[in-house]
Amino acid sequence: MYKRKIIYFLIFAIIITTALSGCTDNQQPTETLSKDSFMLGTFVVVTLYDHQNEEIIDKVFNRFDEIENRMSINIETSDVSKINDNAGIKPVKVHDDVYYVLKKAKEFAQISHGAFEPTIGPLVKLWGIGTEHERIPSEGEIEENLLKIDYNKLELMEDNMVYLSEPGMVLDLGGIAKGYAADEAKKILLENKVESAIIDLGGNIFAVGSKPNGDAWRIGIQDPYRVRQKHVGIVQDEDISVVTSGNYERYFEKDGVRYHHIIDSKTGYPARNNVAGISVLSDTSIQGDGLSTAFYVLGVEEGLKLANSLDEIEIIYITKDKKLYLSKGVKDKFEQTNEEFQIVTP
Ligand code: ADP
Ligand code: MG
Repeated sequence: MYKRKIIYFLIFAIIITTALSGCTDNQQPTETLSKDSFMLGTFVVVTLYDHQNEEIIDKVFNRFDEIENRMSINIETSDVSKINDNAGIKPVKVHDDVYYVLKKAKEFAQISHGAFEPTIGPLVKLWGIGTEHERIPSEGEIEENLLKIDYNKLELMEDNMVYLSEPGMVLDLGGIAKGYAADEAKKILLENKVESAIIDLGGNIFAVGSKPNGDAWRIGIQDPYRVRQKHVGIVQDEDISVVTSGNYERYFEKDGVRYHHIIDSKTGYPARNNVAGISVLSDTSIQGDGLSTAFYVLGVEEGLKLANSLDEIEIIYITKDKKLYLSKGVKDKFEQTNEEFQIVTP
C-alpha cells in the first residue's frame, strides 16, 4: 500500500515538475535545487529556482520534521497524542505551533459548521482508510463513534493548555497540518531571500514568488479521471497556495462504491456527493488545506456559498459529471485546458 502510494507521488511529482517547467521559456536558469522525502504522511518535494544553497532546503525539512513530531497522531510523544491520551482526564500544555493550528482548525470548523472537524479521529480510526485494517464498519459502530465527535468540546485555554472534554475523543490534524507546514516552509524561504520556489506536499502546492524570469507560476489542476496524467486547467499566479482534495487520493472500493478518506462528521461515512476534486487558491496554505477538506464535505452548492463569502480564497470544484464550478474571482487566474469539462457559472 505504502509502496503504491510512493510510486503515485513520484509520478505526480514528475508531472508537477513537467507542468511547471514545461511552461517556462529558455530564459529560465537550469540550476535548480530540489530535495524530496516521504514525510507528513505524504511525498514532499521542495525546489528552489534561484538558490543553490542546501542549507536553506535542510532548514525547511528540519522544520517539517519538527511539525510532524508535534502533530502526528502516529507519534506517541507528539502533543496531539498527549491531548488524545488525556481526553476526559486533564488539559495538557502544547507547543505554540500546535496551539496555533488548533485555533485555525477550530475557526475552520466554525465557519464550515463542522464540515472541517478536527475531532474526526474516532471515525478516521474506525474506517482505517489507507491502512491495513480498512473496512466498512457496522452502523452501530458508526453511531457509537459519532457521539465522540464535536469540535465544541475541543477547549483551547490560556497558556497553551488544550483539553478534549469527553473520554474517547481523538484529535486528527491530518486535514490541516500539511498546510501549516507549507506556510512555515515559505516563511523560512523568504527569511533566506528565496524569491522563486515550489513547495509540494503531496499535491498541496505553495508557489513562492514567481518564476525565475519574473513570470507568474503556472500550476496544473489535476483531472480526477486521469489521475497523475492530465490537467483540467492551469492556475496562473504569483505567491499562491493551491491545495487540492480529491476522492482519488486514498480510498478502497467495495461492491462498486468508493470509500475515501474524507469523512462527513454528520453521517460518519466518507462524504458522498457530486465532488470529484476541489482546489483552493489562497495566500496561506493552512486555509487552503483546512478549507479544501471542508469544501469537499460541503459539496458544490454550500461550498460555493461559503467560498464567495470569504474574501481571501478562491475555489475550483470538479464534479463527477465533469463540470467545473468556479468561485467569483477565479476566472482571471484560471485557464481551462481540457475541453471534456464544462465550466458552469452559477
Ligand atoms: P489530502 O491532502 O490527502 O486530500 P486532506 O487535507 O483532504 O488530505 O485531509 C484528509 C485527512 O484529514 C484524513 O486523512 C483525516 O486524517 C482527516 N480528515 C478526514 N475527514 C476530515 C474532516 N471532515 N475534517 C477534518 N479532517 C478530516
Ligand atoms: Mg486538507
